[in-house]
Amino acid sequence: MLFRSYNRFHDAARTSLLPALDHAVAIFEAEAKARTRWLQQAQQVVLAILLTTLLAEAFFIFRPMVTRIRLYAGRLFDMATRDGLTGLPNRRFLVDSGETAIIQARRDGSDLSCLLIDLDHFKTINDRHGHAGGDAVLMRFAELVQATLRQGDLVGRTGGEEFAILLPGAGEAGALLVAEKLRAMLEADRSDGVPAFTASIGATTLAPGDRGLADLLSRADAALYVAKGLGRNRVRFEAAQPPVPRGAISVA
Ligand code: GH3
Ligand code: MG
Ligand code: MG
Repeated sequence: MLFRSYNRFHDAARTSLLPALDHAVAIFEAEAKARTRWLQQAQQVVLAILLTTLLAEAFFIFRPMVTRIRLYAGRLFDMATRDGLTGLPNRRFLVDSGETAIIQARRDGSDLSCLLIDLDHFKTINDRHGHAGGDAVLMRFAELVQATLRQGDLVGRTGGEEFAILLPGAGEAGALLVAEKLRAMLEADRSDGVPAFTASIGATTLAPGDRGLADLLSRADAALYVAKGLGRNRVRFEAAQPPVPRGAISVA
């Protein structure tokens, strides 16, 4: 009797309970799949928003920021290496470039010359035409000298109305040619609103005994001093002293 009841229950469970359970599992599975799909779509939307935000930031914030930083870095470099009035390289930049030019000239076995230029009676120009007149002369000088030089030559403002020029590849003859051309050009220049002016120029050429740019500058300065003493508006060249041969006896 008990066995029969159990069998009947077993059959009933097989025919009605199991399909119902299968159906419930199928519904649950379908719901779970739908929810997973929804979550995946939501995830993709969030990812897309995130990427769009990042791209917008990169384009509208970081890109202009990098451009501005580059601009400021360029301006800072200019401020550190250029003279504010004439726009020419300053003394520091000229000295750094000069040392490099000496190393290069020695490596190539080529000439290197240096000119030191000082505007004549500049104090009188300032007194007569005011500081603005003096400034106009300095700017005109910068314009003229840049138009005269070749590519590779370097001019810098080393002091108030003093300038230095480095001429790679130029020996004594080349240096004198450039210096005289420049001197004559400055003397002949008549520009509206710019007082007439002249310059004295000291020139020299790199010698084997020179220890660095300081030696070149000091020799060019000595030549400039002579040019000033001889009446200004002229060019003077100073060659390096030949080395004293070993064992030479000096006679007092
Ligand atoms: P010399 O012929 O012997 O070179 O005489 P100088 O008058 O040119 O030389 P001095 O050293 O007596 O005077 C230089 C003047 O240059 C004095 C200074 O006030 C002026 N100076 C320096 N820097 C500037 C500048 O940036 N602008 C102007 N306008 N004048 C300047
Ligand atoms: Mg001077
Ligand atoms: Mg002067």
